[in-house]
Amino acid sequence: MTQLELIFLGTGGGRFVTITQKRRTAGIRILSEKLNIHLDPGPGALVHSLNMGLNPQKIRAILVSHSHPDHYTDAEVLVEAMTQGTTKRRGILAAPHSVLFGNETCGPVVSKYHQQMPENVIELKTGVNFNISDIKITATEARHTDPDTVGFRLENRDFGDIAYSSDTEFFEGVGKQYKGVRLLLLCVMRPSGKPWKGHMTTDDAIKIVEEAGPEMIVMTHFGMQMIFSGPYREAKLIEQRTGVPTTVASDGMRISVGEEIRVRRMERKQKGLDDFVKSRK
Ligand SMILES: [Zn+2]
Ligand SMILES: [Zn+2]
Repeated sequence: MTQLELIFLGTGGGRFVTITQKRRTAGIRILSEKLNIHLDPGPGALVHSLNMGLNPQKIRAILVSHSHPDHYTDAEVLVEAMTQGTTKRRGILAAPHSVLFGNETCGPVVSKYHQQMPENVIELKTGVNFNISDIKITATEARHTDPDTVGFRLENRDFGDIAYSSDTEFFEGVGKQYKGVRLLLLCVMRPSGKPWKGHMTTDDAIKIVEEAGPEMIVMTHFGMQMIFSGPYREAKLIEQRTGVPTTVASDGMRISVGEEIRVRRMERKQKGLDDFVKSRK
């Protein structure tokens, strides 16, 4: 059976976590036999790829959810890696209007020069979909301070569906877009009781999970307040309220999705941080 592997090169988000690198902000690499995708290459994407032995020249698609620095800053150098130092036109760059052309509040953040290098540049809007080998990728709706922000749903018959919310606040129907996914990655920037317009708190995450009913949740993209409050405590809250197993992402963590979902962490085992296996329903 085909396996999909997610490697969390970064799990931090927001301005203060980015400028202090309290958690890395390098995005997520998604790998399978036929797939090599980098999702949201924030600051550190290139360096942490190299440090973890993940050759950035093997990337075949770069997905950027919106034009905030913790999601896009390394996009251009990864385009250069993907196109072998700009010598080959290849790969896909998929990003919303703000990233490619700019909108009233932000962007563009990938230069015209770099947009000419990939074989394919896809402008994303809610509902736009495209295929990379046997995986269908659909842009989902997000409501954030960059109004063009999108999330992603990846569909595949072998290992089921996974999704990434990107930065979004809760709105009616956000979770429905992720109905039936096995693994739901949520950018839970803020802890319970600390709302901030355009961003997700633990309370919002609970509502999204209730709508979506995923097999498992991964919390990531932690802001400073979330780090101080303690993401493990917040994960417990989500589990207690929804009954859905909730994993807190850590830098360097790998999740393989196949017959079962398996989580492996880079740091030494600590209490509550053991390897985790979730069998397919
Ligand atoms: Zn962000
Ligand atoms: Zn953002």
